[in-house]
Amino acid sequence: MTAAAQLVATLRAAGVHLEPTASGRVRYSAPRGVLTAEDVEALRRHRAAVLAELYDERGYRTELAGDTLILVHHEHRCPCGRHFKCTAPTCAGRTIPCAVCRIEWGGGE
Ligand SMILES: [Zn+2]
Ligand SMILES: [Zn+2]
Repeated sequence: MTAAAQLVATLRAAGVHLEPTASGRVRYSAPRGVLTAEDVEALRRHRAAVLAELYDERGYRTELAGDTLILVHHEHRCPCGRHFKCTAPTCAGRTIPCAVCRIEWGGGE
């Protein structure tokens, strides 16, 4: 288990709720008095690794570039021939229409 996974597991066991935000931060909420200053400091120190852990749980693939975490894109090929990239974990391998076709196909998901 990595230090970050350990930290996440320990905090969760204590009742802390951790969530990745779109802006690349870790949002946490905890019952009053549960999170210590050291915990907050540890979260800050391992921010990228903790984020990677939380994204991983949700099925996203991530990559560390220095200490910046980036979401790994996968590529889709629309039947119209356009290629496009996305990061959504649930669609990998599926044929989904590109943005242009989605408009032309008329809202059907
Ligand atoms: Zn996709
Ligand atoms: Zn298309």
